[in-house]
Amino acid sequence: MANYYDVVVVGGGTSGFVAATAAARKGARTLLVERYGFVGGSSVSGYPFLGFYAGNGEKVVGGIGEEVVGRLIEAGGSRGHIRGGRWQTAEEYEFSLTPYEPEVLKFVAQEMLLEAGVSLMLHTYLIGAIVREDRLIGIEVANKSGRSIIYANCFIDATGDADLAYLAGAPFQIGDEVQNVTLMFTVGGIDLERLVQEIEADGRIKGRGEWHTRVVRGPILDSDEPAIVHLAGHMDLWDDRPPLTFTAVSWKKNQASFNITRTVGIDPTNARDLVRAEISERRNVMETYRRFRERIPGMEGCELITTAPQVGVRESRRIEGEYCLQGEDVVNCREFDDGLARGSYPIDIHDPKGGKTQFTFLKDGGSYSIPYRCCVPKFIDGLIVTGRCISATHEALGSTRLQSTCMALGEAAGVAASLCRPSKTPRDIDGAELKGLLRNDGAIV
Ligand SMILES: Cc1cc2nc3c(=O)[nH]c(=O)nc-3n(C[C@H](O)[C@H](O)[C@H](O)COP(=O)(O)OP(=O)(O)OC[C@H]3O[C@@H](n4cnc5c(N)ncnc54)[C@H](O)[C@@H]3O)c2cc1C
Repeated sequence: MANYYDVVVVGGGTSGFVAATAAARKGARTLLVERYGFVGGSSVSGYPFLGFYAGNGEKVVGGIGEEVVGRLIEAGGSRGHIRGGRWQTAEEYEFSLTPYEPEVLKFVAQEMLLEAGVSLMLHTYLIGAIVREDRLIGIEVANKSGRSIIYANCFIDATGDADLAYLAGAPFQIGDEVQNVTLMFTVGGIDLERLVQEIEADGRIKGRGEWHTRVVRGPILDSDEPAIVHLAGHMDLWDDRPPLTFTAVSWKKNQASFNITRTVGIDPTNARDLVRAEISERRNVMETYRRFRERIPGMEGCELITTAPQVGVRESRRIEGEYCLQGEDVVNCREFDDGLARGSYPIDIHDPKGGKTQFTFLKDGGSYSIPYRCCVPKFIDGLIVTGRCISATHEALGSTRLQSTCMALGEAAGVAASLCRPSKTPRDIDGAELKGLLRNDGAIV
């Protein structure tokens, strides 16, 4: 049957493209459904990969995530992991990041999918789910050609918003107030060293000596000289408003992507709110960019290069799975027998009300495991959930949402889905067998 697959992944973002690649590499006939005309999702917004290494220096993500970094380097889109930064906490944990060019990631992700034999269904929106006796057996999608139904033995929800789980009737949580949203933007023509001087002088960039403020140097794409790859602090852009907390990442000379604007009170599963967020954030970006030019030494002649494909959503629906990862599990670096992926980033919660970002560091700068059960929704069979919308509390999500962790979860979800052939459901999968397979493939579990 042309529209029957072993595995269908909905959402070709950070976690979904890895999940589809992993499933197809295990021999599953795999389809990827993605609403945009490219793959990569949130990962093409201009953020660096964070969380490949824990605060104590331990490497916590390998497997396909690490392969993605290697492929980015090969394609000229990254100089790899940059280590040696420091969180200025009492314990002085390591801060590392992996900057890359988002346009190259779109290409790398696409080629990995095609090489693995995944069928791509781009420009296609998930609009419905077909459930028989509590098992998801099909989905309805819409695109320029009209509507169609696709059947599979196992589905993976990698939409970031748990759209598929929701349509299938799986239980989920969404807070009354979720983390704020941000439209990333990239600016060229900046004297980044001048920005560092501003931090050192406690000038227009505040927060010298504070734990949040960071300056990281490393290699960039167009120079062998170490350059600024990461800056964080608080920018003083207005006389009558508090300084804006920002992070900036750079992979090219005189250029950086900024995470600085915020819109609060947005429900990312509400279409009207999303429109409101886009309008508000585009205004914020233009106003902030004008302020950069007027107010920040080193940015007088800067130019806006691009904005992300859409507002960045930090938090949305979280499914109710067979286990719900807790904030304490993360902070206390808990291990689980069915742990399939590791996270290590501090709990990073951007205030739903727009106040200061809250960070909670992990015990001894360590890492925690994420159980397979967090990816298996209660009550509905035939479905695995990965990425931002796994079963985790608001606090735990503040750490699991990082891209490296989402890629590790995606690999586990893809392999688990492939094991469901010919007729098992994700609940039947033996966590220990899955763990062994992932470890053999280089994943760190
Ligand atoms: C402002 C901001 C800054 C961040 N900074 C960093 C950072 O510096 N480093 C870091 O590692 N992480 C960062 N993150 C977190 C990280 O980017 C995300 O949490 C992670 O990429 C989510 O991955 P995902 O696969 O769950 O979702 P996504 O990557 O968003 O993928 C979801 C995919 O599903 C598709 N989709 C959604 N709904 C449908 C539908 N109904 N039908 C078809 N397709 C659909 C989308 O188009 C998308 O491609 C940041 C997040 C935000 C918002």
